[in-house]
Amino acid sequence: MLPKGPGTYNCALARSRGHPAATMAQSTPQDALAEDVGRRRTFGIISHPDAGKTTLTEKLLLYGGAIQLAGTVKARKSARHATSDWMEVEKQRGISVTSSVMQFDYAGHTINLLDTPGHQDFSEDTYRVLTAVDAAVMVIDAAKGVEAQTIKLLEVCRLRDTPIITFINKMDREVREPLSLIEEIESVLSIDCAPITWPIGMGKAFRGVFDLRRDRLVRFTGGEERRSEDAEVIEGIDNPRLTALFPDEMPALRNDVDLLRSASAPFDLPAFLAGKQSPVFFGSGINNFGVQEILAALIEWAPPPQPRDGGPRMVEPTEKPFTGFVFKIQANMDPRHRDRIAFFRVCSGRYTPAMKVQHQRMGREMKLGNVMTFMANERVQSEDAVAGDIIGIHNHGQLQIGDTLTEGEALGFKGIPYFAPEMFRVARPRDPFKAKQLQKGLQELGEEGAIQVFESVIGNNLLLGAVGQLQFEVVAARLAAEYKVDALYDEAGIATARWLTYPDEKVRRDFERDRAASLATDVDGNPVYLAPNRFNLQVAMERWPQVGFHATREHGQRMAHGRA
Ligand code: GDP
Repeated sequence: MLPKGPGTYNCALARSRGHPAATMAQSTPQDALAEDVGRRRTFGIISHPDAGKTTLTEKLLLYGGAIQLAGTVKARKSARHATSDWMEVEKQRGISVTSSVMQFDYAGHTINLLDTPGHQDFSEDTYRVLTAVDAAVMVIDAAKGVEAQTIKLLEVCRLRDTPIITFINKMDREVREPLSLIEEIESVLSIDCAPITWPIGMGKAFRGVFDLRRDRLVRFTGGEERRSEDAEVIEGIDNPRLTALFPDEMPALRNDVDLLRSASAPFDLPAFLAGKQSPVFFGSGINNFGVQEILAALIEWAPPPQPRDGGPRMVEPTEKPFTGFVFKIQANMDPRHRDRIAFFRVCSGRYTPAMKVQHQRMGREMKLGNVMTFMANERVQSEDAVAGDIIGIHNHGQLQIGDTLTEGEALGFKGIPYFAPEMFRVARPRDPFKAKQLQKGLQELGEEGAIQVFESVIGNNLLLGAVGQLQFEVVAARLAAEYKVDALYDEAGIATARWLTYPDEKVRRDFERDRAASLATDVDGNPVYLAPNRFNLQVAMERWPQVGFHATREHGQRMAHGRA
């Protein structure tokens, strides 16, 4: 059976998820807000480093009409690599600042592409970014298949059942058999695959892809810099022209297509929207091949902005009042200015310039004065933003990751956790008179989410907790450059941390007396247990079954001074 084309899916589910097809099915007129929301597609690209994420990003922008020539994103990437001492800092900030969000209009839709740091040491940042998307494109290197970071990122997507479109890249190289790649994705990532296109040949003999839905072959022509819009299309798998052109490759393709049509599951939009099945495309990003199909899939299949858990209730994207949350903080690139940009995902309503909103954590009003939209090449003042859009709000530290802004209603968007770090360092300034500065710097970097900061109860040591080694390097370099603190970072002799909750005051007091040497507080004053090794943690948990030991906590969430 042919995979289903767009428009042939279950409308009830589409309606329940606010898919635009539903609006077509309903005859009632939609207001302008609903129409604008329906046109939004907000997605991120995930991949193991080097699979081709940067290249694909660039080509999507090229085909989306957002940039004229390829090379922009790549140039930024190589510029980031070119620096020496600053390399990792620049790299991280380069990713974050110059290309972290890109908005462009394509085929009547407004697309928000969110960049995710590829390096696993910044996986917390990636996790936070993925909380702000409605879909993801997964890039797989066809020579390497599913790699370590792909597995981790997909696990993150799975937490929210994010719909995934798969792009199997680098077909112009000697790569693995397509069927074995599909099998690997299905078994390792536990997601069903629905091939939409299928490659004919590979490497030097890569001839193109067969479009299984439209029963036609799109012929491959290389060419890096310009949009190759006029790829030749040959209709029908039995077309004699195909046999004449590709006598060596056609028998295998016909075999594969027969097999796929009889044995593989057709594309199923509800299964895709539920994150259970992924449509799979083959191509070569660097050759502009297969990129337009990804854009088309994003527009036809990827969901528009979805309802979000606002704490007390679900918030619909088409509700009038403006709401949203901060998922990322970026310090100003210019160290003379201490202001920051909060990346804010709009969840409902409409942003209008200089509007007043309620800052839920601080319980006070805030004017959204200096707000930006990030285009592919530039930042512009935001004039208008609706659900799905990402705006950048300038602020001086009032906004933190996880903060919710509304027009008054008491809401708190959920789902951005801190993970218990696995690596620890004790920070102390070389110059003891700089202790205050160190504390201030770490506090601010902690709020930004660059690192987690704890203060031990005994000795008031400042402890840095990270998920990856590079985080320490970034923080050390930034403390030196932005806060002028030269610090020493010693091994802390800590293996892991747990946030603590207590059933009552007595248990808290007894526990604190028993375990004083292992106690600390995080940046928000929450109690934390720091374990020198796993065994110690296990013993503590066994001995204190009444105490809650938590491996994650939500941003912005105060643990009521440890009360459960
Ligand atoms: P990222 O680390 O995932 O962002 O990967 P990049 O986009 O930087 O690509 C990594 C390397 O693979 C670069 O040298 C690219 O030029 C190369 N590359 C990307 N796409 C393709 C492709 O389709 N074919 C080939 N042969 N190389 C590619």
